[in-house]
Amino acid sequence: MIDLPNFAPLRIAQKKVPARLADFNAANHVLIVLPRSGRSTRVGTPLAAQVQRLRKQAARQPSHSITTRLDNTKSTTLTVALIDIKLSPFERLTWARKTIQAMTPEGRKLVISIEQLGADDYRRAAEALLIAASAAAFALPTFKTDKKRPNLRAVTVLQVQEEIDIASIHAESTANNIARWFAMMPPNELTALAYRNSAKQLAKQHALEFEFFSEARLKKLNAGAFLAVSQGNADRNAGIVRISHIPSKPTGKLALVGKGVLFDTGGNNIKSFKGMLDMHMDMQGSAVALGLIVALAELDVPYRVDAWLAITENRVSATAYKSQDIVTSSNGTTIQIIHTDAEGRMVLADALSIAAKAQPNLIIDFATLTGACITALTTTHSGVFTNRPSAHAQLIEAGHSSGERVWPFPMDSDFDAGLDSPVADIKQCTEDGSGDHILAARFLSRFVPKTIPWVHVDLSAAQHKGGLAHIPTECTGFGVRFTLNLLEQQFELSNGFKDMNPP
Ligand SMILES: [Zn+2]
Repeated sequence: MIDLPNFAPLRIAQKKVPARLADFNAANHVLIVLPRSGRSTRVGTPLAAQVQRLRKQAARQPSHSITTRLDNTKSTTLTVALIDIKLSPFERLTWARKTIQAMTPEGRKLVISIEQLGADDYRRAAEALLIAASAAAFALPTFKTDKKRPNLRAVTVLQVQEEIDIASIHAESTANNIARWFAMMPPNELTALAYRNSAKQLAKQHALEFEFFSEARLKKLNAGAFLAVSQGNADRNAGIVRISHIPSKPTGKLALVGKGVLFDTGGNNIKSFKGMLDMHMDMQGSAVALGLIVALAELDVPYRVDAWLAITENRVSATAYKSQDIVTSSNGTTIQIIHTDAEGRMVLADALSIAAKAQPNLIIDFATLTGACITALTTTHSGVFTNRPSAHAQLIEAGHSSGERVWPFPMDSDFDAGLDSPVADIKQCTEDGSGDHILAARFLSRFVPKTIPWVHVDLSAAQHKGGLAHIPTECTGFGVRFTLNLLEQQFELSNGFKDMNPP
């Protein structure tokens, strides 16, 4: 059994009253945020003269921030950071990450005072700083004997104008931390059994329903696509986990599906050393789905949510599947195996078919699926695909306004020519791999009934060197913030997903 950490270790508080010297004295670190441009020179904080001086110095720094000591009796560490209010959401989150990163070693209690911003700019700056601080305060798994943890434990935001939605920040950061934490677990620790048990434990903590589809049960469901991959494992612990949030009078049904390949060797068509090195993170899609259902349960959304985690390894072994095997998936489609490293679409095929049986109003799947998507977009954006092209604008907007940026790819049916098989209903992939991110999406579309709106997220931004947006680590947990924005802001799911259904 793996010991699960506290996934939201940062305590967040807000105060409406103006900043007082006593607030500053109680902190280990004070952060004062001011607009980069602005005519107003009056600063409302205590020790205004010092802050005013530092503002001028900060303006001359490339980082637009300066760290020194406050002129109080405790000489509290003080950072004055200037924000450009015209930043895009992505740029604002990046600013927040760098601002927090530059100061977190300093202490446990951080006080933030934001000055001279209008209500909207204030809210945006505060939210960006709090979500970045929540990511920075969380420790990813470490197996060093000397366990160094981030110091930051508590943040108080002073002179809040409009109340900040701390519950949403808590839910989102919990979900992102869950996604990153599981993705960073070593593959000998996060076995299929350990992952399933951890998911069960999280389900219990959040009063969610838990169900496990073992290999034996998947056999009964004829889930030959999933089982083709899992048959190469050394043990029989692979399977599909369902975790459900079930409100008393659900307004609709959402299914989240995630690829949980715990280690991807490529199988018989084995990967190179460098290609295989980080393949313990090939389960990040399932960890994003797991984080999301915890967040949506915390937010107590009025619709039912089922998270489906397709958990297995992809191994080289005597029993592993091979090129030219032909397998039958649970919806009856026969698949000609071409390349054993295209295992993600295999496990998702059956997970999508099984998730679709409950007729959800919307399916969203997450997978670190193709190298082609990284080639197309780099690791700054993730790819999105949907059987409702009219939703492209909403998908792009959710990416833009959340700061987890996505870009849609075409899904026209003539791409299917590449998947024509002479011996089965469909080929798993092509031999040459060109446009593989699109063909993978076309392949998956065979397992989602056309009547169900579906969004597929190819997580090309799951790993980004140096961190991405508000996330300070290479492992990004990308998908959590995008999806929460999509569900809350773009699809207005309070109406039971009616907008997403065909007329
Ligand atoms: Zn693979």
